[in-house]
Amino acid sequence: MDAIGAGIGSESPLAASFRQKFEKFYTQAASFFIEHGLTGALHRHLADTATALLTRRMAQGVVDICVTGAGAAGLAAALAIATRGRPVTVLAQGRQGPTAAAGATDTRTTAILGGGITFLENIGVWAKIKSISAPLAAIRIVDARGGWLSAPEVLFRAEELEQPVFGYNVPNEPLRAALLARARAHPGITIVETRGGGDVTIAADSVTLKIAENTAYSTRLLIAADGRASPARAAAGVTTRTWNYRQVAIAASFGHRLPHGDVSTELHRRAGPLTTVPLPDDADGPRSSLVWIETPEQAARLMTLDDTAFLAELQGHVGGFLGPLRSIGRRGTFPISGLMATSVAKGRVVLVGEAAHIVPPIGAQGLNLGFRDAAALADCIADAGAGDPGDAAVLAAYARARAADLVSREIGIDLLNRSLMLDFLPVQALRGLGMHALSNSRTLRRTAMRLGLDAPGQRPHLMQPLAKAR
Ligand SMILES: Cc1cc2nc3c(=O)[nH]c(=O)nc-3n(C[C@H](O)[C@H](O)[C@H](O)COP(=O)(O)OP(=O)(O)OC[C@H]3O[C@@H](n4cnc5c(N)ncnc54)[C@H](O)[C@@H]3O)c2cc1C
Repeated sequence: MDAIGAGIGSESPLAASFRQKFEKFYTQAASFFIEHGLTGALHRHLADTATALLTRRMAQGVVDICVTGAGAAGLAAALAIATRGRPVTVLAQGRQGPTAAAGATDTRTTAILGGGITFLENIGVWAKIKSISAPLAAIRIVDARGGWLSAPEVLFRAEELEQPVFGYNVPNEPLRAALLARARAHPGITIVETRGGGDVTIAADSVTLKIAENTAYSTRLLIAADGRASPARAAAGVTTRTWNYRQVAIAASFGHRLPHGDVSTELHRRAGPLTTVPLPDDADGPRSSLVWIETPEQAARLMTLDDTAFLAELQGHVGGFLGPLRSIGRRGTFPISGLMATSVAKGRVVLVGEAAHIVPPIGAQGLNLGFRDAAALADCIADAGAGDPGDAAVLAAYARARAADLVSREIGIDLLNRSLMLDFLPVQALRGLGMHALSNSRTLRRTAMRLGLDAPGQRPHLMQPLAKAR
């Protein structure tokens, strides 16, 4: 279905000409009365009718479910819902090439854990990216804060959970390109490219989005996947809690001589973690991706270094276990902050991905949360059968489904990050005790691993193996 041009586009030329004259008359009459301060019942009627006509002219696309934002979370939500049988329209900002926007490049990779890979399988994306992804068989936490309270190393191995891997590390750009290609090919998904989304008007029975091309879409459910600034979230009147860490992450991929052994290593340093995550080898040998969290000043300094000098500094941190470093790709910086929407569902609008939550890149949670939003939302809509997808009961079910997962990640990741930066002795003693306990107790490690991989409770339908469309 092509939503552009639906409705009014099917009028005959004669009917269109008549309607235009009629609308012009009403609009001019209404303006006259408003300008001259004539606001009696007849004049109000004229003004209201003119407004309604103009709004109707704009509302060319009437769709059941609309996603605004075609990042990874928005595309995943569209694919999840369409896989379960409901058509979706995606409003995508800018021309949708393989990269996010012309000239934009994402130097990050995403570790997709737990049910995330099953989810990608079930929405038909995994086969396209498996060959460029690397398995994560173990995660090693190393206390690199220094000092006499230093804690023992903790090694989380997937085989302790009777699983071959925790997940896979996938480069961001091919991941998004694969989601986009699958969404384009899906008969239940319409992608509308727009220069930008403008006004969002929320009424009791629909949401209207006006886009830059002077077209409007009326939908029964609006899924806000429009990122951290989320205009749709603001229009729905959802407030957020935000916080800053005075940290910046440098993300890049690099080559090294020793094999990573499918192990991701997190060095817990005072300024924040420095994490290496396995990537597939290239022709010259092993590769990993890097998320190096630093103070803004240090990050700025590291970004001014040329590749050789940067690799020399990185070598000092990771050379001990990855051997001599041999190459570094493009580097990107990402200020670290936190955001939590006070509600993920309000007035026919639901939030997914970073529109709903931003957490620091520690323990690979951000997009995994976004995929869980998508899969849980698809369940709530499927439970409504052929009913109204924007019904209050659907929104309430979605908010309930996501509450525990979001609160536990926000608190857990924030505590871990802040505990690294604090020099307060009792905090460091507690952190050390925790690491000791994890290092010595298999039961505790298994509990921590399960918490890190999945939301509490049952996995959503599309995160279960061999889930079918319904
Ligand atoms: C350094 C780093 C490493 C990370 N590593 C991991 C990891 O290993 N594992 C993990 O799970 N997560 C990780 N994350 C988090 C992950 O990258 C994010 O959660 C994810 O990219 C967010 O995707 P999104 O689709 O919600 O947002 P975005 O990618 O920001 O997409 C939002 C989209 O909305 C569009 N948009 C904005 N305004 C409008 C509008 N008005 N109309 C229409 N469209 C609009 C934008 O153009 C964009 O396409 C990491 C983050 C960082 C910073």
